Amino acid sequence: MRLVILGAPGAGKGTQAVNLAKTHNVPHISTGDIFRSNIKNGTELGKKAKEYIDKGLLVPDEITIGIVKDRLTEPDCQKGFILDGFPRTIEQAEKLDAMLEEMGVKLDKVLNIHVPDDEIVKRMSGRRVCPKCGASYHTVYKPTAKENVCDNCEANVVQREDDKEEIVRKRLETYHKQTEPLIEYYTKKGNLVTVVGKEKIEDTTNEVIKALGEF
Ligand code: ADP
Ligand code: ZN
Repeated sequence: MRLVILGAPGAGKGTQAVNLAKTHNVPHISTGDIFRSNIKNGTELGKKAKEYIDKGLLVPDEITIGIVKDRLTEPDCQKGFILDGFPRTIEQAEKLDAMLEEMGVKLDKVLNIHVPDDEIVKRMSGRRVCPKCGASYHTVYKPTAKENVCDNCEANVVQREDDKEEIVRKRLETYHKQTEPLIEYYTKKGNLVTVVGKEKIEDTTNEVIKALGEF
């Protein structure tokens, strides 16, 4: 399976990507996760990326595209991949097309998860992540078993810096300006499928399975 997942920040791309990567046994590539792990490890890349991420802006294409190119040429991507959070601009999409052509492969589908802005703002305020293993939770929709403690690794879960409401609104603005045009880009290519993100994760997962059909 070679899949791109599109959607506004907080639409649930990551959650669905993790599921699909597991069931289809392909790597899950999240540019957001790559940036966050670089920030955590204090790399040069992390320092640069943080300046943009903390403001709700996109990391510049010249940084992001190189990272994805390096990742896609690793051997485990030969069997397929799920791209979560990339592409996010038309330029990234065009560069991705060129990379895939070089690899001699095509995207099977582009999955667009649609969630209205108001719903997103509501959701993000409750989102919590585990700083140690990357698992994500929600205070209402997907709570940890023990309050504030990660189910996998027992670390204390936290709110992402960029999940604070003011930054969420900026991220939404960035999404509408720079990423939403990709819906038309992939519709024209004929491989876009849209699902409406539901409140319950399992409900969205079922919609996704239906929309993607057989792989
Ligand atoms: P979300 O989809 O919830 O915004 P991500 O974890 O995908 O969260 O991304 C977090 C931040 O990382 C984004 O707001 C952006 O600043 C940066 N980022 C992630 N992917 C890209 C990308 N493809 N191009 C530019 N910036 C990106
Ligand atoms: Zn954890």
